Amino acid sequence: MQRLIQGFQQFRSVSFPHKRELFEKLAAAQHPHSMIITCADSRVVPEVFIESEPGELFVCRNVGNIVPPYAQFTGGVSAAIEYAVAVLGVANIVVCGHSDCGAMKATLKPAAVDALPAVSAWLRHAHVAKQVVDTNYHFEDPAQTLCKLTEENVVAQLDHLRTHPSVAARIAGGQLGLHGWVYDIEAGTIKAYCSQRRHFVPLEEVMADSAGWPSATPPARLHNTVEELQ
Ligand SMILES: [Zn+2]
Repeated sequence: MQRLIQGFQQFRSVSFPHKRELFEKLAAAQHPHSMIITCADSRVVPEVFIESEPGELFVCRNVGNIVPPYAQFTGGVSAAIEYAVAVLGVANIVVCGHSDCGAMKATLKPAAVDALPAVSAWLRHAHVAKQVVDTNYHFEDPAQTLCKLTEENVVAQLDHLRTHPSVAARIAGGQLGLHGWVYDIEAGTIKAYCSQRRHFVPLEEVMADSAGWPSATPPARLHNTVEELQ
């Protein structure tokens, strides 16, 4: 607890005065350009590896960076997605997995979480990725299997995202882009999913495409809702 209090005191005395203007600007409204859905793992901090400022990213974190399919499950992740897309009008949603993910390890060995019924049930949303890996890949090195599962889980969760009506509608309108990333904790690198090649490549290789990403514009018909809810 002492560490938490010390951290806040440091924020109050150093960081807050430094960014006072930004916090004043953000006090009444937020206009994040992107939503990031990533793992709850303490080593994965998108605000750090993207070097974003407060107000830029709408972040949703959960065990295994999972997006339950819309028709199967309505919970906090679905609500966050709907709000980010329909009210805030984010232009991008990034699903970001990561290296050494405990949730992916548990997906490979479900017996390891038998005593954790909530985790076990939640990870069922990643079973589709395990099936893809089991059927199509046969690595001798378990590390390669884990890496492939982590990638396929990101692809599966992107598929689940498209089942959300708010997401499907804005993709159809050309106002929203979906992106899949895997962050490597040790190397500090990101691989991004290339849908044309159906393969993950260094983010730098797909940066050329990023120029064509849609810009953040709240949906016109929802302006009243935006004002009411923000
Ligand atoms: Zn994880």
